[in-house]
Amino acid sequence: MIPCKPLVPLQDLDLKIDAAKAQIEERKQKIQRMQNEIEADGQLIEKKLALLKKIQLRRRKAETEVEDLSQQAQLAELKMQTAGLSPASYKALEKELAAKRARINEEEGKILEDMQKIETLEADTAKGQKVIAGRREHLETVKIRIAEEITGIRKGMDLIQTERSQVSLKIDSDLLEKYEELRHKKHGQVLFSIENPSCPACGMGFPGGLLSAVTSHDEAEPCSNCGVLLHWSGQRV
Ligand SMILES: [Zn+2]
Repeated sequence: MIPCKPLVPLQDLDLKIDAAKAQIEERKQKIQRMQNEIEADGQLIEKKLALLKKIQLRRRKAETEVEDLSQQAQLAELKMQTAGLSPASYKALEKELAAKRARINEEEGKILEDMQKIETLEADTAKGQKVIAGRREHLETVKIRIAEEITGIRKGMDLIQTERSQVSLKIDSDLLEKYEELRHKKHGQVLFSIENPSCPACGMGFPGGLLSAVTSHDEAEPCSNCGVLLHWSGQRV
């Protein structure tokens, strides 16, 4: 038999402290989640910007190529007008000119495609950057609000801690030690008020001995499986 009555107010306070800690943790995680999401989207935009730069370079290179090819084509045309050119030379120049023009066409087609890609990427990344800037700004206001909330929760926790110290002073040291040990091992609730013959912590159904022990008095018995303290508040036979 374990005299559990003095532990009831202590555990109530401890559970309040647990809940406050969980609230703080939950808020911190919310900020972290928001930050991670913004970062992931930022990285996606960085990738798109890198692609944009690559395509812009490719387009510039193709434009230079077209300029060179145009000059070469002009040169071929000039040569074709030279007096006294042999028919064979003329034919060769004609072939060269056709080849240059085909290349120019091909490059211009690529340039047009790249320009469309550039336009889409520019619009896309500009919009994305604007959205991210807005979300970063929003995150800052959320951070401020949550910091205030956490300060409030901590203040409440300090009050509970003070009350807890006072309550614990009134508890027999052996009992307090036993309780603290259980808390350390189990985290959370370690004293349960029960109306059914099974342990709410580990789920074990009671063997006959434990059932008769726990129902025979108004204090607690340790669960024979997991050790939490069980107080019978159900019907007594
Ligand atoms: Zn148990």
